[in-house]
Amino acid sequence: MNEKPLLVMKFGGTSVGNSDAMKRVKEIVKDVLHEGWMPVVVLSAMAGVTDELLRSTEMAKNRRYDQVLQAAGALTTRHYQVVDELIPETERKVFLKQQIDQLISMFAEYCRAIDIIGEATPRVLDAIAGIGEMLCVRIFAEYLNSSGIPARSIDATKLIVTDHSYQAAHPIREKSERKVKETLLPILQSNIVPVVTGFIAATEDGTTTTLGRGGSDYSAALLGAYLPAAEVWIWTDVDGVMTADPRIVPDATTIDVLTFREIGELAYYGAKVVHPKTMQPLIDAGIIIRVRNTFNPTHPGTLLTLETDRQLDGEIKAVTSIKGQALVTIEGRGMLGVPGVAARAFGAVAATGTSVPLITQASSEQSICFAVPLSSVETVLRSLNEAFSRELATRDIDRIWATDEVVIVTIVGAAMRSTPGIAGRIFGKLGSQGINVIAIAQGSSEVSISIVIDKADEQRAVRAIHELIVSKNEKAG
Ligand code: ASP
Ligand code: MG
Repeated sequence: MNEKPLLVMKFGGTSVGNSDAMKRVKEIVKDVLHEGWMPVVVLSAMAGVTDELLRSTEMAKNRRYDQVLQAAGALTTRHYQVVDELIPETERKVFLKQQIDQLISMFAEYCRAIDIIGEATPRVLDAIAGIGEMLCVRIFAEYLNSSGIPARSIDATKLIVTDHSYQAAHPIREKSERKVKETLLPILQSNIVPVVTGFIAATEDGTTTTLGRGGSDYSAALLGAYLPAAEVWIWTDVDGVMTADPRIVPDATTIDVLTFREIGELAYYGAKVVHPKTMQPLIDAGIIIRVRNTFNPTHPGTLLTLETDRQLDGEIKAVTSIKGQALVTIEGRGMLGVPGVAARAFGAVAATGTSVPLITQASSEQSICFAVPLSSVETVLRSLNEAFSRELATRDIDRIWATDEVVIVTIVGAAMRSTPGIAGRIFGKLGSQGINVIAIAQGSSEVSISIVIDKADEQRAVRAIHELIVSKNEKAG
C-alpha cells in the first residue's frame, strides 16, 4: 500500500506551452516525488491550442475547409516539434506521432461534418475543443516515461461523469467519484504518475463534454475532492493571486493567504487566476489549494483555504476592477411600496440572458439600480421598457435609463466583516482623489465592497485604494 500523501497538480496552457516549459514541469514532478508526494498531474492544452481548435470550427461553418486543413497542419507540426525536442527514442516518437495523427484526423473529420451541414452544435464543439488536452497528456506522459518517471496518460472522459450541458457540463459526484477511485488509485498504488486531461469529461453514455473555458482548474479540484488528495496545486504563469492587476498598480504584490470566499469574490470580478468553480468541491473536503508559478517554482505562491487564523483586523487583501459595465436605473414614485417591481425587473433582464454583477436599491424604494455589461445594455433597456410599458404610460415609473460606460471596483478582505470604518477609509481615499462614487454595494457576506465609478477614474481609484493595502502590509511587516 502506498502511504504517500496525494497531490493533484494542474498545469495551465503556458506551463505546457512548448518543450522548455514541459521540461520545467517534469522537474517539478520530479521534485515533488522526491519530497514524498504522490502526484496526479492534470494538464491544459498547450497555450493557444483550444482557441485554435475552436477558431477552426468557425472556418468550417463558413465553408472554409481549406483553412481547417491548414490549421490541422499547423497543430500537427507544433505537437510533432515538441515530441522531437523532448523524446530521444525513435520508437516512442513514432508511437506518439501516430497518436497525434489520429487525434488531428478526428479533429478534421468533425470539422468536415460542420462544413457539410453548415452548423456546429455545442456537442461537436466540445468534442473538438477537448482534443488539445488529449494531445498534451499523451506527449507529456511519454516524456515522463522517457525520463525514467513511470507515467500514464488518461482522458478524463473515463473519470468525470457529467450531465449533457455541453460547454459547461455539471459533474455528477457519485458516479465520478467511483470512477476516479477505481481508475486512479490502483495506478497511484503502483507508483505510476497519472497524467490526466483537464477541461474534458463525458456523459454517462460516453459523449465528450467540457467543463467550460478555463475549466482545467475545476478538473483538478474535482479529482482532488474525489480521491481525495491532501492538497491541490494550480501551477500557472504568475506568482499567485496579486493584490491588484500589476498593469494598473506596478507595486502590486502576491497575497500569501486568501480564503475561498475572498478568492470567490476576486474570481467573480475578473481576476482570472483560478476558475471560479474550483473552490466548491474542495471546501467540503477541507482541501487547501496553492497557486504557484511554473516559471518561478521557488516562490511559495498563494495559499487558498477555508479559514485563516492570520486575518489582520480590517485587512484589505485585494482590489480589482471590471470595465465595460453600464448602470441601469428604474425610477419612479409609483414604485414606493409596490411589491414585485424588482422581481419583474430582474425577470425582464434574465429573459435577455444577461447576468447582473451588482445591484443596489435606495431605501426610499424610488429607484432600483443595477449593472449590466455594456454590450447588453440596449437589449436590456428594450426588455425593461416592454415589461413596464403600462407603468411608464401611467407615470408610476418615470424613466428607465442607463449610464455610459462605468467600472466596478471591488475591494476584497474577509476581515472587513468585523472591522468598522473600512468603508470610511475607502471613501476617504477616493474623496481625496476627487473621484465620484456613482453607486455602492456591499455583499451580505461582507467579504467585499463594490463601488461603481466613471470609466475615466479606474486607474486612479484602483491605485488609491491599493495604497491602503500597501500601508497595511508595511505595518504588518
Ligand atoms: N484548454 C482549455 C481552455 O483553454 C481549458 C483550460 O486551459 O483550463 O479553456
Ligand atoms: Mg486558466
